[in-house]
Amino acid sequence: MSPASAAETHESATADVPLDGTASRSRPRRSTVVLGVVLSAVVVASGAGFAWMSAQLSDSRSRITDQEQRLQDQQRELDEQREVIERKEQFGAAMADLYATVDPLVGLPYSSLVPWAQIEAIAGRAWQHRWTPSALDRDILDLETLTTDLVVRADAAREQAATNASGSVWEATLDELGGGWVSMGFDESGRPCGLEAMACISGASPFHVEVSAGTRSDGQLTDWMRTGVAYHEFAHVLQFTNPEATASALTAFADDPETMADCYALTVLDGWTLEHEVPIDATSYWEVRLGYGYTCDDGQRQVIRDWLSALGVQKQIVGA
Ligand SMILES: [Zn+2]
Repeated sequence: MSPASAAETHESATADVPLDGTASRSRPRRSTVVLGVVLSAVVVASGAGFAWMSAQLSDSRSRITDQEQRLQDQQRELDEQREVIERKEQFGAAMADLYATVDPLVGLPYSSLVPWAQIEAIAGRAWQHRWTPSALDRDILDLETLTTDLVVRADAAREQAATNASGSVWEATLDELGGGWVSMGFDESGRPCGLEAMACISGASPFHVEVSAGTRSDGQLTDWMRTGVAYHEFAHVLQFTNPEATASALTAFADDPETMADCYALTVLDGWTLEHEVPIDATSYWEVRLGYGYTCDDGQRQVIRDWLSALGVQKQIVGA
């Protein structure tokens, strides 16, 4: 190390050592300036950082809101799907109830008793409504109404079969033939079925036989005759409630439902004829002709038998 170098070092040392405090206050040291600059930069940087953080927070909040909305949407979709699944299950249960109600009716000789076309239509609507719970509700209600109607009628038939409220041979015969499904009533208003007919059925009420009240005490009638006429009326019940099979069978009777109904009684009721003799006393009797004046032949009686074997409630698979 040279002396000059030592002197420089010394000068430098002298100059750097403050003689009093003034020197440091009046002239900030470089390091202070540098620190100041750094601080400012930090402050500026912090400001920028805050602005950036704010932007980030706002962005996050917006994302959270979006996510919440999506979750709500997903929840709503799940709720809707659950509702749809529940309705489908309810519809399936309602259909199962209907089938359980129909099963014991299969084989009864009234094909229109179970309105399959209507059930098929409801099932078709339900398929169209499979994503719309409120519409499915109506379809379920329609099915339940049909089921309830059948249950009520089956209960009434059981009751009807077990009793004979009118105490008449008319009712006893119709109960026996119809299994309780066919009711009858005496009409007191005169001639409900016209001047000639003792009894009649309206297509609007195909399970009800209206009987003229006068038949109860008419001296020209016997219970055997009332029985045969009840058979004739029951044939009308079968005609009304089996329209397709009947339309085909009627062709053998020149489309006359009355001669066909007479033929039913002649075919099914052993010993039945359309001509009767009713004793008045020991020496005289009434000659009474019942029905529509035509005794059907063997071929027509076979048509009746074939017709009877084709009648009745059948189980159908809806949607098949
Ligand atoms: Zn008739």
